[in-house]
Amino acid sequence: MAKDDKLSTYRSKRDLNASGEPSGGAPGEGARFVVQRHEASSVHFDFRLEAEGVLKSWAIPKGPSLDPQQKRLASPTEDHPLDYAEFEGSIPEGSYGAGTVIVWDTGTYRNLSSHRGSTVDVAEALDNGHVKVWLDGEKLRGGYALTRTRMRGRESWLLVKTDDEHADRRRNPVRTQPKSVLTGRRNADVSEDDHA
Ligand code: MN
Repeated sequence: MAKDDKLSTYRSKRDLNASGEPSGGAPGEGARFVVQRHEASSVHFDFRLEAEGVLKSWAIPKGPSLDPQQKRLASPTEDHPLDYAEFEGSIPEGSYGAGTVIVWDTGTYRNLSSHRGSTVDVAEALDNGHVKVWLDGEKLRGGYALTRTRMRGRESWLLVKTDDEHADRRRNPVRTQPKSVLTGRRNADVSEDDHA
């Protein structure tokens, strides 16, 4: 599928001239991940993995946990363009996702998805509903598993930390490290004129 087709849902929901959000530019190098803290009608964390020329995306109401015993609900959202990984700004009132966005964490990831001992590429793992990745971010490190499930008849996913050396039941960066890793700002510091 062409990249333009993959982003048609993203574009159809937005007036990109009004909101200042990226329209989808040239692909970057390497496999990136980003977690954006989005203060919209409710606060949530948008978890995005670079795959197939777009950012595969989920909205996580409680944000990622470092505790392998915590399953975090992750609702799939539409594919986003790669340049959304650097987006911070204020989406105006009346627009889709109105509110403020900061880059809460970002870095690269490695695909660890496998089936019966052989590696499965990310696209196939997403289709199969089970993705394992190793994150190298500033706040999030180590293994995470995303597993598709169903809740009340709707597709939803669960994000769970793998029990490795980066698991930590005591740390909760969602609460203790609320600032942008790109600009050091909190959501409240992001103003309407960011993208003017
Ligand atoms: Mn969001």
